[in-house]
Amino acid sequence: MNHLNLIILGPPGAGKGTQADLIARKYKIPHISTGDMFREVLKDEGSELARDLREYVEKGELVPDEIVLKMVKMRLEHDDAQSGFILDGFPRTLEQAKHLDDSLIQIGKNINLVIYLEASFNIILERLAGRRVCLHCSANYHIKYSSPKEEGVCDRCGGELYQREDDKEATIRRRVEIYLEQIEGIIGFYNQKECLLKISGDLDAGDVFKLVESQLVKSNIIGN
Ligand code: ADP
Ligand code: ADP
Ligand code: ZN
Repeated sequence: MNHLNLIILGPPGAGKGTQADLIARKYKIPHISTGDMFREVLKDEGSELARDLREYVEKGELVPDEIVLKMVKMRLEHDDAQSGFILDGFPRTLEQAKHLDDSLIQIGKNINLVIYLEASFNIILERLAGRRVCLHCSANYHIKYSSPKEEGVCDRCGGELYQREDDKEATIRRRVEIYLEQIEGIIGFYNQKECLLKISGDLDAGDVFKLVESQLVKSNIIGN
């Protein structure tokens, strides 16, 4: 198997976390979500970094590149990311995409595939309003589409499920607006590298995953 260095892009609620988790478990690569990393930091309320980050993350504004880039670079240096990774929620600006590319080139690596999940706005709203996340392990649920066996409790670890502060309608609109401002530049960048796969995130999660896997086979990234 080649290295599986993947990126998943898409608006909030498109299903990036859900797909990244499926891919990470099947191919045994780490699921690196910058949003999850930030929410981890926020749990330690007294820390200086948490104080700095809270205003951005809870309002749905972008965290400054300087902070994001440092955290991602450190995460990609871990042993578990040496034979592959899936980045979810990063890059979110053209600047971040260029930086990532430069730092991968420096260590002789590259991105094999960028999965671009599109989603319509009414679907985004319904998904985010019903999203519930495990406080302990960050597993994702939906009250209608993938509900846990016991309401409010994580199937995987028994942790408590909560609704994200930024999954409220006004903040969702702001997040989608920011996403739309940034996405074209990022898409243009990866289109030039001919590694972009566009999939409708409106589809059922299982169908999206099948399309991702067939592309991985087609591009010889994984064997049959
Ligand atoms: P993102 O990481 O892009 O914000 P998530 O993977 O967290 O998106 O999905 C948002 C919500 O929608 C979650 O509650 C998730 O369980 C649910 N979801 C994800 N993919 C689908 C899908 N294809 N169909 C229906 N619900 C989905
Ligand atoms: P979603 O799953 O809804 O797409 P994320 O969990 O990826 O949202 O991100 C939540 C918040 O974390 C963002 O609204 C932003 O404040 C911050 N964030 C996450 N990734 C980045 C990034 N690459 N650059 C800047 N801010 C980020
Ligand atoms: Zn859990």
